[in-house]
Amino acid sequence: MMGRQEAPAQLFYDFDLEQHVPANHMLREIDLFLNGDALREALRPFYSHLGRPSIDPELIIRMLVIGYVMGIRSERRLCDEVHLNLAYRWFCRLGLEGSVPDHSTFSRYRHGKFRESGLLRQVFEATVERCLKEDLVSGEGFAVDASLISADANKVRSIAAEDWSPEAARQADNRAAREYLETLDDAAFGAASPSQPKFVAKSDPAAQWTRAEESRPYFAYATNYLIDTKSSVIMDVEATRAIRQAEVGASRTMLDRTEKRFGIKPDWLAADTAYGNAENLGWLVEKRSIIPFIPVIDKSERTDGTFSRSDFEWDEKNDQYICPEGHGLKQFRRNYSDPTRGQDTGGRKKYRALKATCQVCPSKEICCPRADARYVTREPHEEAREFARQCRKTKAYKVSRDKRKKVEMLFAHLKRILGLTRLRLRGPNGAKDEFLLAAIAQNLRKLAKLRPRSIKQEAAA
Ligand code: SF4
Repeated sequence: MMGRQEAPAQLFYDFDLEQHVPANHMLREIDLFLNGDALREALRPFYSHLGRPSIDPELIIRMLVIGYVMGIRSERRLCDEVHLNLAYRWFCRLGLEGSVPDHSTFSRYRHGKFRESGLLRQVFEATVERCLKEDLVSGEGFAVDASLISADANKVRSIAAEDWSPEAARQADNRAAREYLETLDDAAFGAASPSQPKFVAKSDPAAQWTRAEESRPYFAYATNYLIDTKSSVIMDVEATRAIRQAEVGASRTMLDRTEKRFGIKPDWLAADTAYGNAENLGWLVEKRSIIPFIPVIDKSERTDGTFSRSDFEWDEKNDQYICPEGHGLKQFRRNYSDPTRGQDTGGRKKYRALKATCQVCPSKEICCPRADARYVTREPHEEAREFARQCRKTKAYKVSRDKRKKVEMLFAHLKRILGLTRLRLRGPNGAKDEFLLAAIAQNLRKLAKLRPRSIKQEAAA
């Protein structure tokens, strides 16, 4: 006979939530690595001792962690899910009957005490500390990269950049526009870049009109990750405008912050060509003594069969290049008191051969067929660039190239598994909050996967 499930008439239940959450549920593992007491301690100075008790900030953080770990970024939906899901209730310490906060609470906390206290960054750094404690970080080699995430802004409601002005942002008077005005001179965020986008979104003016490879242009922010390549732990995360200079600047900010906060400086850094400009390589090699496993941006190679700069040998001692015929190319042939004389605006120096030498040279046709004499330029930080070129010939470079892919895999995970393809929050601070929460979720998932409870129990036994 076909059975039929009837609602039991029993009025009182003996229900233990703990027993109904599967032993291998990911949130059980993540729960081991989230320290609620530390969160409350960080927020304590921002609360008064008087008045009604607030909603527990740990509850809000736990709900946000569920949202980003499980890919539920709508706060309305998150409230519904936490209300209905037993595992989520268990993780939030709500029991069966605890009430779930209203979705509007999230934005109040985000724009209020969380931002004042920098709580999300503190939670993120706590995950990194935990990864260090669990021996998931070697500190030997880091990789850095940026990925574009679509902003919550639409082309239809944008205006041409020439019709845009900070005054228009003041008139718009929304939170994203106010934050945009605050970051106007923040070079690190990329807002002070001379590059002019084609369109500006009125709802989120800091979002950059840009395009990824083979895609249509769209408004986006860039999330920048600095990872340790041992276990792909995210050591730091930074939100910037989707501008190359800002992304390179973010890599330096993250390296400095990681050293200051955790006392870790990598032996080497792997990155793609975008990070291979002279200034960045000079900073890494000369100032920070970090080996750059980064392809050098080099436009000096010729493809027309004539000598490239690499055919000329650098003579450090005499500050000259030696051409393939053995003649010296000098910047000056007499002494000048001004050390910057002869440099162009980019700091490049020109080294010239003597016209009289080149005119009678048997190699002139494959050296400077259309000029009276040959010259080659020397970029600023050329020693660092040359060092990076030599690094590229090593076996360690090949290993680092494979390890660099780990940061790309994290971005793929971010978009495909956590569903962060489009931001929900607007403005620079909205992007910062979302990228921090996503990085917290990824580090917690990493801890849950690589240091599960079963390993801990075995160790304790
Ligand atoms: S053309 Fe001038 S620079 Fe070039 S190989 Fe001859 S002497 Fe040297």
